[in-house]
Amino acid sequence: MDVVLVVNSGSSSFKYQLIDVDASRTLASGLVERIGEAEGRAVHKVPQDAPGGASTSESERTLPIPDHTAGFGVMLEAFAEHGPSLEEVPPVAVGHRVVQGGARFFEPTVITDLVKINIDELSSLAPLHNPANLQGIVAAQAAFPDVPHVAVFDTAFHQTMPPSAYTYAIDRELAEKHRVRRYGFHGTSHRFVSRAAAEFLGRPVEELRQIVLHLGNGASACAVDGGRSVETSMGMTPLEGLVMGTRSGDIDPAVLLHLQRRAGLSADDIDDLLNKRSGMLGLTGRGDLRDIEDASEAGDETADFALSVYAHRIRSYIGAYAAQLGGVDVISFTAGVGENSPDIRGRALAGLEWFGIELDPERNAPRSRVARRISTDASRVEVLVVPTNEELEIARQTVEVVAG
Ligand code: ADP
Repeated sequence: MDVVLVVNSGSSSFKYQLIDVDASRTLASGLVERIGEAEGRAVHKVPQDAPGGASTSESERTLPIPDHTAGFGVMLEAFAEHGPSLEEVPPVAVGHRVVQGGARFFEPTVITDLVKINIDELSSLAPLHNPANLQGIVAAQAAFPDVPHVAVFDTAFHQTMPPSAYTYAIDRELAEKHRVRRYGFHGTSHRFVSRAAAEFLGRPVEELRQIVLHLGNGASACAVDGGRSVETSMGMTPLEGLVMGTRSGDIDPAVLLHLQRRAGLSADDIDDLLNKRSGMLGLTGRGDLRDIEDASEAGDETADFALSVYAHRIRSYIGAYAAQLGGVDVISFTAGVGENSPDIRGRALAGLEWFGIELDPERNAPRSRVARRISTDASRVEVLVVPTNEELEIARQTVEVVAG
């Protein structure tokens, strides 16, 4: 049995999952948060059907957790107390989500001292994420010193983009010096979903021209040609592209200069505005799409308008990617909004019938946690809802690397 511990580390928290890769099954999952605050919190969940799991399915502790190393200690105690026993299901490796792999990392990589230096060095491109990912790696290596640790990069899947897709039309020397280009993110999810969609259709991924729409708090579209990413909507940072929960997505860069000059905003103000106070939050005052949909249904015109802005942007990307791919065979919706909002899916695909995209309202309406088709039988393009599972994908890639 190949068991992998998957770690997704932030600056004051980390999430983990213990995954049986052969069975594609989660044996335990948890969250350690408020690290460094006066009172930290740790939650550990064991699915009822997991082998060696105790009868309780969820346990919670609040206690001071000074740093990530202490956090992993708390996690190990939770495994010892609530199971499954790490002696009975020992992880063969630990897989770490790392946000920015730059142009250097195009595949999952066993973490050596040199790899850590490189991840650290890429922090200039992802100042909020890479240092936090690295903290998690160092602490996890101390907790699990005897197994390989593997970095799985959010950017790696997009390293197959052709230069014409990843190049910004600015001064080449300046761009090269500061590594300004599109990297793309959500790669682990786009890879997982594009493969799961092919599997659902019973067709080889190599034959398919796919558009994957990952719509969560962050959102991105990806054009996948024969299983390879050829274009994606996030750019040098996860700010570009679709309208998101709190991020603007695409915007005329001159707007930033205008706001600097006319509204007296500093670079930090604009960073905060575009990343944290824009998108659906900026348009409606609400960041959670469920609330916005509820308000829209209750007749709130501002909420309804924001949803149409959100859908308009998605539709533009579908058109652009259909052109880049020379046609589309499959469109898949995934992540919180993509998996759960029939309204957004319907709005995004409205008017695309001439592309051969025909949604079946009855198939679109229900919720389910498995992959399913939501297009009509006559639709030339298969439209699917495919639940993403980034942790499972990280675990699979980790096992592949370790197995060599
Ligand atoms: P993250 O990008 O943080 O991983 P998720 O993929 O979990 O986020 O997506 C979170 C988003 O999904 C939230 O904006 C939430 O409102 C939205 N969402 C979750 N369930 C529903 C639902 N039933 N209808 C509409 N939106 C939903």
